[in-house]
Amino acid sequence: MNFSSKLLESAVEEFSKLPGVGKKTALRLVLHLLKSSSTEVHNFSNSITTLKDNIKYCQKCHNISDEGICEICNSTKRDVSTICVVEDTRDVMAIENTHQYQGLYHVLNGLISPMDGVGPADLTIELLLERVRTGEVQEVIFALSATMEGDTTIFYLHKKLKDFNIKISTIARGIAFGGEIEYADEITLGRSIATRVPYENTLMK
Ligand SMILES: [Zn+2]
Repeated sequence: MNFSSKLLESAVEEFSKLPGVGKKTALRLVLHLLKSSSTEVHNFSNSITTLKDNIKYCQKCHNISDEGICEICNSTKRDVSTICVVEDTRDVMAIENTHQYQGLYHVLNGLISPMDGVGPADLTIELLLERVRTGEVQEVIFALSATMEGDTTIFYLHKKLKDFNIKISTIARGIAFGGEIEYADEITLGRSIATRVPYENTLMK
């Protein structure tokens, strides 16, 4: 792309670093912002820097939160004996939308992926083990994507958790194979949590 302005080029460069945004889309977004009012553009950039500077991660479940402990962990209406393990905050939102789940969550902040150099130490696995060790946990449910990374992560977690006296289950994979759980429709996702199965049953004998 030949830009008529260095400023334009640098803004397009920044936008095209976002996932799923190519150079053409980046240019379209930047030109759109350029046509917007100064107030709108300042609000836009302020909301992003304020988010980055002030966001917290729940000290218990690592979900994105405005407070040290998130609303779900703080609620007295949740079943503290059940923890649903998910990849990121999008999954918490998807599962909450189903209104089928009353337990707590644990956000891993990614999945184990040797190809991308992500190992267990890069995730919040220690925090999860600590919760199981010290909390009133009776069941851990894996709600991770049916991908290689999801399966690797479940396998690793199961190894770490199997000696605790708890139930370990995985959501029923009614979800399209290789599908990510945030894209599953609410009914399918809700049903797959309700009909979860013991993880051991899913292993090939
Ligand atoms: Zn929390």
